[in-house]
Amino acid sequence: MAASPTTTLTFEVLDSADPEIAELIRREYRRQSHTLELIPSENLASAAILEALGTLLTNKYAEGYPGRRYYGGCEVMDQIETLAQERARRLFGAAYVNVQPHAGSQANAAVYAAICKPGDRVMGMDLSAGGHLTHGSPANFSGKLYEIHSYLVDRETELIDYDALQRQAEEVRPKMLMVGYSAYPRRIDFARMRQIADSVEAVMVTDMAHFAGLVAGDAYPTPIPDSHVVTSTTQKTLRGAWGGLILAADEERWRKPLDSAVFPGTQGGPLMHAIAAKAVCFGEALKPEFKDYAGSVVENARAMAARLMERGLRLTTGGTDNHLMLVDLRPLGLKGRQVQDAADRVGITLNSNAIPYDEASKFNPSGIRLGSPSVTTRGMGVGEMAEIGDCVADLLEALAGDRGEAELDAIRERTLTLTNRFPLPYALS
Ligand SMILES: *Cc1c(COP(=O)(O)O)cnc(C)c1O
Repeated sequence: MAASPTTTLTFEVLDSADPEIAELIRREYRRQSHTLELIPSENLASAAILEALGTLLTNKYAEGYPGRRYYGGCEVMDQIETLAQERARRLFGAAYVNVQPHAGSQANAAVYAAICKPGDRVMGMDLSAGGHLTHGSPANFSGKLYEIHSYLVDRETELIDYDALQRQAEEVRPKMLMVGYSAYPRRIDFARMRQIADSVEAVMVTDMAHFAGLVAGDAYPTPIPDSHVVTSTTQKTLRGAWGGLILAADEERWRKPLDSAVFPGTQGGPLMHAIAAKAVCFGEALKPEFKDYAGSVVENARAMAARLMERGLRLTTGGTDNHLMLVDLRPLGLKGRQVQDAADRVGITLNSNAIPYDEASKFNPSGIRLGSPSVTTRGMGVGEMAEIGDCVADLLEALAGDRGEAELDAIRERTLTLTNRFPLPYALS
């Protein structure tokens, strides 16, 4: 069933105040309307979240925490932040929460600062194995400030090899074990990770930026009880506006170091408009419908993966059990960039991505990463996922066979049919 837009977003002032920016936003609205968004870290925030975000709360400085601010006039800010905290605690079953990190990277920066001194040893998943920049990439603060020992996945199965990880942890004896990913299509055994961390007295931090919405909707195991600290974003599967989040099961141990690592350690004033939007996001995720959404995201990813494999494509690890998948382009003789650019032309947004043990350059890797969160928010189901899988497979076959424009035009028609049947959850007048 196609959902029809129920809300119309309007520009009462912007059109005349700043027509240039207003027009660019309209252009982006048209792009989002008419493309299949398959980047697994993207989603569609609700109109309610957008409204909370675009408010005069951005006028207020509220450095500090509820009841302990450095500025006057924070009564309402205290209520907004407290509400966001309470909802996040309830949603994830965590005793400690900090809703102030501006984004996922800032949440991670604060957690490193709370747990490690510069130069301390940290283990995190290598970027090429599916880890995130903030898990120790040399180009990132994490790789510059700390002594990073990256772990890989098994070369054959492309899965995390917990025995190998255990041995590496015994050798390295890290201060912190970073768990979590941006491009790993499977579940993680959090209890096993905790055993490994405990055996070398490391602090286990799980970064659930990608899968927080699946955890909130009971479609993926929760890392909260097994991890010492958990970080997240709100804009990915959790379907909020852009933002970061830190959680911990043990309030007593973690409140002081984590609160002070966020403010004044790594940030100034909190983005109160963004915190209000987080509160709305957590409120939405607490509703029973969100469980249906999270379940559909996983079911849809599985259906898309199944069709891609039926069409002869190789998916890393042989499939998915979360919201994302990686296609290995090497058997087709293609490279990621070329596919990403051609996909843009046929109305499919995806990103080129390294696959495990990729020998190609980071700028033009051998894989593409696809996901279901955004198209699921539009109301698409397993039937549409099969059609999307066919569009992607047809595109890859056309590119591999060096076949011409007519073929790409035909795919564009099919993606347009889908986006027209399943519009964004809002119109823009
Ligand atoms: C997306 C992501 C982040 C960073 O989030 P930003 O909001 O872009 O800073 C951190 N960790 C992981 C694992 C991610 O996937």
